[in-house]
Amino acid sequence: MVRITLVQGDITAEHADAVVNAANSSLLGGGGVDGAIHRRGGPEILEACRALRASHYGSGLPTGRAVATTAGRLPARWVIHTVGPVWSREEDRSALLASCYRESLRVADELGARTVAFPAISTGIYGWPMDDGARIAIETVRATKTAVEEVRFVLFDDAAYRTFATQLASA
Ligand code: ADP
Repeated sequence: MVRITLVQGDITAEHADAVVNAANSSLLGGGGVDGAIHRRGGPEILEACRALRASHYGSGLPTGRAVATTAGRLPARWVIHTVGPVWSREEDRSALLASCYRESLRVADELGARTVAFPAISTGIYGWPMDDGARIAIETVRATKTAVEEVRFVLFDDAAYRTFATQLASA
């Protein structure tokens, strides 16, 4: 079974085979994790994203899906871009958020990645409540069959770290 670890910090500093980006469907950059990855990873990542838009993903990457590019200058081999759902009070979009984790691990398996660093997808600009986002993240990773050996959740602040730690200890 995959080993789940937690660290507090900036995901762009993580040494891992693959780092997951909380992207938006344009794949052309944004704020939060996305902005930090492109800033620190350099222009090669954006170039690879542009190539994806020009080929397989002409209208962007759909929510819940994942695709890999180079990690540029990041201390990782690949960036796996996934598009989380925007939180909605009216509609339950949990299946899409779970799909982000599952699809990212599927892409990681295709690449042969053994260590994968994830941010708390959708819990920033997209407004997902941290405790529910943490529950879905951990439940989904635990339930997914994968050759990945370590999934490392990289939590930006202390509150997010503690929320994930509580989720990890329960169930
Ligand atoms: P989304 O648009 O999917 O909500 P964000 O990037 O806005 O994505 O935020 C996702 C989570 O990542 C939030 O909890 C945010 O605090 C956190 N975050 C923002 N920047 C970083 C970073 N450099 N490293 C790790 N986590 C980050």
